[in-house]
Amino acid sequence: MNSKNTGFNTICTHIGEIEDKQFKGAISPIYLSTSYAFEDVDIKRYPRYFNTPNQEALCKKIARLEKGESSLIFGSGMAAISTTLLAFLRKGDHIVLQRTLYGGTVNLVNEEFSKYGIEYSFVDSQDISGFEEKIKENTKVIYIETPSNPLLTITDIKAISELAKKKGIITMIDNTFASPVNQNPIELGIDIVLHSATKYLGGHSDILAGAVVSSEKNIEQIFHLAKNLGGSLSDFTVWMLERSIKTLGLRVKQQNKNAKKMAKWLEKHEDIEAVYYPGLKSHPDYEIAKKQMKGFGGMLSFELKKGLDASKFQKELKLIKSSMSLAGVESTILSPTLTSHALLTEEEREHQGIKDGLLRFSVGIEEKEDLISDIQQALEKIKILELEH
Ligand code: PLP
Repeated sequence: MNSKNTGFNTICTHIGEIEDKQFKGAISPIYLSTSYAFEDVDIKRYPRYFNTPNQEALCKKIARLEKGESSLIFGSGMAAISTTLLAFLRKGDHIVLQRTLYGGTVNLVNEEFSKYGIEYSFVDSQDISGFEEKIKENTKVIYIETPSNPLLTITDIKAISELAKKKGIITMIDNTFASPVNQNPIELGIDIVLHSATKYLGGHSDILAGAVVSSEKNIEQIFHLAKNLGGSLSDFTVWMLERSIKTLGLRVKQQNKNAKKMAKWLEKHEDIEAVYYPGLKSHPDYEIAKKQMKGFGGMLSFELKKGLDASKFQKELKLIKSSMSLAGVESTILSPTLTSHALLTEEEREHQGIKDGLLRFSVGIEEKEDLISDIQQALEKIKILELEH
């Protein structure tokens, strides 16, 4: 089972299992202890040292899923991201980042980095030349996120890693939207992979967690800071996450299938102005997505035709829930203008192509016919309301 050829769902189900030697139970026991006996100066078990039995077991599973040597699990995606960035950047260093990152990451950079004397530049387009132009003598890290939120733009991962390798720069990617089911950036040359495990890894909208995967050497460097910052994940949640990942492959493959069907259906619909999904041939980055992704993911965005109110549409949905988060087994929808991108100015949103009527759709595992009839009934309802007005 530990061979390199072990299949994805087998890794999800079995890698990192803790054998229940006492009772021979089918699942890993949970060890909630925060206090362990002293064994040796080199083995001090403590949850904040990321080395309890359940933490170590889960790290093995996540590292295998992302094809890395090692991993660490954190109390949130932002704990993983902030710790990792700060582990590789120091005063006087410079980082180049894609502009269309998760808002929390942008805020971290904008609000905190200057306090530490870290310089940064955002790149406006996904073009490799845009990244190359921003690189300076002191650039230490390039940070990307693909597919991006909310327009699902695609950055060419291999091209970024080749550029960075030539210049001796470390590459980091937020792989949350794709999940390891659809994209393994380490295979494409990326050094460090980050996840908000709150999303697809957890998958049931009931866990807040983060993860980082990389080489043993890089994880050692991150660990050194991580134990000082103290952002580890409690063992009960570690155990829940381990259980959730057992169905990661099944869930995400169904979400891929549903999202592709929904994107195609929406694209043909007379009330829909535009659909953004990297699996559609009409998507400007379709060819790059096809090259680097195994599936196109469960996230898509769309705009209603002019005159149709996106907020009213959202309120009329009965099955698809309004939600601030994403990637659960249940389908959810949000308006980026009112939520995730509300802190941007109108000009900044316009610059990024985010229109007020844009809706971000996290497609769940439900039957696609039920999702279609929910959207159809909501569209019909708002059209009647418009007529009555
Ligand atoms: N990265 C992406 C792409 C996200 O969508 C989020 C949260 O929405 C994060 C990182 C931050 O994760 P967390 O909320 O688990 O800290």
